[in-house]
Amino acid sequence: MKSSKILRVVILTILIPMGCSNSEEIIAFKNVSLVPMTAEKIVPDQTILVKGDRIYRIGKSDEVKIPDKAKVVDGDGAFLMPGLADMHVHLTGEWPLPQLDLFLANGVTTVRDLDGRDFMLQWRDAIKAGQRAGPTIYAASPIIWGYEKNVAEHISKRKSGYDSIKLYSYLSENDFKKVMVLAKEQKLYTVGHIPFAVGLDGVISEEMNEIAHIEEFIWEFIDFDRNENLPPKEWFPYLKKAIYQQNKPFFDLGTNEIKNKYLQEVTATVRKLESKNISVCTTLYLDEVIIQKLFEPQKFLEQPTSAYLPQQYINALLQGKEKHQLQFQGGEDLAPLKYAIDKMLLIELHKAGIPLTLGTDAGTGAMGIVPGFSIHAELRILIENGFSPYEAIQAATVNASRVVAAMIGKDDFGTIDIGKRADFILLEKNPLDDVANIKNRLGVMAAGRWYGEKEIQTMIDPALLPTIPVIGGVVNIRNPADEFITVFDIIIGQSFGGRLPDDIESITVTGPEGVLAIRKEDFTFWSSANDFYIGVPGSPKVGTYKFTVTSGNRQGSAIDTQSIVRPIPVPDISTFSPPEGETLDLKTPTFSWGTVTYFDAPIYYLFQIYDSTGEEIYRRGRIQNMTSHTVSAGILKPGEKYRWRIRISDSGHWMEEQNRSETKKLSFKMAHALK
Ligand SMILES: [Zn+2]
Repeated sequence: MKSSKILRVVILTILIPMGCSNSEEIIAFKNVSLVPMTAEKIVPDQTILVKGDRIYRIGKSDEVKIPDKAKVVDGDGAFLMPGLADMHVHLTGEWPLPQLDLFLANGVTTVRDLDGRDFMLQWRDAIKAGQRAGPTIYAASPIIWGYEKNVAEHISKRKSGYDSIKLYSYLSENDFKKVMVLAKEQKLYTVGHIPFAVGLDGVISEEMNEIAHIEEFIWEFIDFDRNENLPPKEWFPYLKKAIYQQNKPFFDLGTNEIKNKYLQEVTATVRKLESKNISVCTTLYLDEVIIQKLFEPQKFLEQPTSAYLPQQYINALLQGKEKHQLQFQGGEDLAPLKYAIDKMLLIELHKAGIPLTLGTDAGTGAMGIVPGFSIHAELRILIENGFSPYEAIQAATVNASRVVAAMIGKDDFGTIDIGKRADFILLEKNPLDDVANIKNRLGVMAAGRWYGEKEIQTMIDPALLPTIPVIGGVVNIRNPADEFITVFDIIIGQSFGGRLPDDIESITVTGPEGVLAIRKEDFTFWSSANDFYIGVPGSPKVGTYKFTVTSGNRQGSAIDTQSIVRPIPVPDISTFSPPEGETLDLKTPTFSWGTVTYFDAPIYYLFQIYDSTGEEIYRRGRIQNMTSHTVSAGILKPGEKYRWRIRISDSGHWMEEQNRSETKKLSFKMAHALK
């Protein structure tokens, strides 16, 4: 029974093309038991019709007519629930398998990054446009830490394109108030830590919308002087000392004794939030991971999900140099006490009905929280602390959509309802019986695409994990002679350990149309970046490229997708200053150039200087619409000859670059005496 159900879903999903999602495509989910999350119920024998990324019809299977052209997923009684949202993540490119795939594979169909970067906005837009696979992305502004000289300027610079403002622990009371006034004026949602100088009372009175971690409340139980007016770097050491000194006597307490000691403070703190409309993101699994890392790092690494961790991270952990190993050094016993208090906070916040969203802080490679998989751990922890499965799932669906509504005014996911986003997980068993059933998926739908279980297995196949760490890239380049070239970069990670380039025995590049006729010998090796690169004539094909390297019995592979081919113009060097062959006599010369006009994508400029041996000695940029750059004193030596050029790219992040153009290199000479 079980295997036939899986088989049927697989067969039917093969009909659905994997490429771009189509906004007009209709998918029918037939014979499913609906877990609508509009109420605690299961509605059996339903058919759901989806057009593009939206639900447009829900009804009894024998009453809903499936359009002829629809792709059909026959659920055969399986459970269809809304996709999950991880509302506290950090997107980076440093994971051995693409982070977005790890989310999708785990049914995470919505993520919110709480320290945004421009490349995430590009990912977000590409996913929305069906050009890239991934969950729906929301992104807060790059963190306002509190070191910024002018926070007002930051907030206006950062609001463009981001869904909210992220505030950090080190903001002074003054700066915090300033940011909150501006955010309210500009109707920007605010989410963050509780700044040390401000405290929970200040956060409540200024009406910050959301607190980014439950663990933030712990500082409310520590005696310290909020008016210390410390520079950012000194806050943490100061507080670390305070928290250790004040809690040392309680490190050895049992759970009940901890409860007796803290319950009053915890409930008093939670009471402050009642009827305040401030939501809280959980991130409790982080506590569990910290304890594993401090006390049983080997066991932590042995769990299957740790196979997905970046190799550098594993190395750091084995060397005892991982972020939390360093942070808790000499005071490891604080971690279990902290977790016990955070769990009490979770329980009391839940009892008091404070809106909680589920977040795991997944993604930043420096903490060991594996994207996607972490959401199941977070759900489990909620259950262990008194949530019903329905309530835990609400935190990861309905509540997340409400937070997004507060951010951008649109409450359109988290339930299965007409007009909502068709983000689904198809499950063998009822998730309202046990949240662990969510791990047994038959498929996931996100941002208008359906991924059958077979496709998901291929996406996260542990066999894809490199035993040689590799990053691969394909990029379409328009050169100064106005020719198009496809460049492949294959970068070998530091932890490879072998001699480069000799110990790499073979390199294979497989493109959308099959294996390419290039061998290791054809590549040039750039030693300072551990980079094998090659340029071949013509633009790349749209699709996925896979790069495989071998060394003895070790193998590593990486993929990169060329999602769009853009003919980015080469700028006209007659607009460049200084012109070819000029001698410069300023210590701090300024270089400027005419920009290109291209409307299909944002354009980023990179400025590069090469010495007379051809080595790149300086680069600045990947800055949008940059038109000039002044080089600081001391970089360019008197009497030396150099060359410079401009690269133009459609991404501010090198991993995400799809297309670029570059000018020829213009030579210049520094005068013997500089002014
Ligand atoms: Zn975070």
